[in-house]
Amino acid sequence: MSGIYIHIPFCRRKCSYCDFYLITNLNIVDRFVSNLLKEIEISSVSYRKEKFNTIFFGGGTPSILSADKLDIIISSLKNYFNISENPEVTIEANPEDFADADFNEYRAAGINRFSFGVQSFNNDELKFLTREHSAGYSEKIIRECLKIFDNVSIDLIYSLPNQKKDNLINSLKKVIELNVPHVSAYTLIFEEQTKLYNLFRKNLVTKNEDSLEAELYSLVTDFLTSRGFNHYEVSNYAKPGYQSKHNLKYWSYENYVGFGPSAHSLYNGRRWNNYRDIVKYNLSLQNGSLPIENEIILNKDMIRLEFIMLALRSKGVDFNRYESMFDEKFTEKYISSISELVNNNLGVISSDNFKLNENGFRLTDEIIAKYF
Ligand code: SF4
Repeated sequence: MSGIYIHIPFCRRKCSYCDFYLITNLNIVDRFVSNLLKEIEISSVSYRKEKFNTIFFGGGTPSILSADKLDIIISSLKNYFNISENPEVTIEANPEDFADADFNEYRAAGINRFSFGVQSFNNDELKFLTREHSAGYSEKIIRECLKIFDNVSIDLIYSLPNQKKDNLINSLKKVIELNVPHVSAYTLIFEEQTKLYNLFRKNLVTKNEDSLEAELYSLVTDFLTSRGFNHYEVSNYAKPGYQSKHNLKYWSYENYVGFGPSAHSLYNGRRWNNYRDIVKYNLSLQNGSLPIENEIILNKDMIRLEFIMLALRSKGVDFNRYESMFDEKFTEKYISSISELVNNNLGVISSDNFKLNENGFRLTDEIIAKYF
């Protein structure tokens, strides 16, 4: 089954480390939603025979939308698309948006998974990241959410300049105390065109050495895996039964269709993306056309490389799936790469799968560049 991604391009303000295309003028949210509904309706004719079992609201900050608006969008998807009986419906959420929230309304709208952009449970770190919520506030909101939803994820950002290990451990301890079943933990990236990058260029902040970053990565992984979390993708950890079904589609190279400005789609070997620019996006839809900016038909070599790259970042290459997709045996084509990786204690092979181990996960990009 396939997945649906809905991109909500709005944020209340831009965080210092963020390089996403986003809009801080919330006056145009209503017009955006009505165009999004048009996009859903127009595109649905292409997927009459397809079944979908995940919906993911990402951004930006999707929690800027009220539960009512989410309800309208989800109802429209259910109306125009063949959505399975119990789809996973995730919303990326900023704790700031839930001051007066009634989480029951989100449940009624059809949401069943929350992914909170907490980033840290340390107030100094939150200040550095220019986040407006405090550690105590996000804790309070997550506790409220957990009264209604069990499938809750927390995003953390680590490897902040000169980050104290104790602070990172305290954030991880809070995750355990809250008893959330899923964590996404990303290292801080100094993207160009961000305020953070400017500070770095002016020598006002420093980047951590690779060795310290690797140490912190191991700390996060060891902490979570020793407490019942499965390390199922380079940056993602889940208790059994709580892996993100939607994100697994990306990593397993399954079909997904995206809506909203800048949303990407992959469907039967065709990849495309929408206009990032909200004006072009709205204009296209007002003229009755889909807001597609670029599309590409992927050739077999491109698909093979993307498939392997995504598989090695997560649950590994499934030999049967590989053979059915490419009409060749993975173990024969890549025998020398596999042997070298296994001999160097970077990967493990079983009768039906080859995957990177924890040592390999730390070097995923380098391994893919060198061996595949
Ligand atoms: S809330 Fe997320 S998407 Fe919005 S500016 Fe901050 S990091 Fe970027």
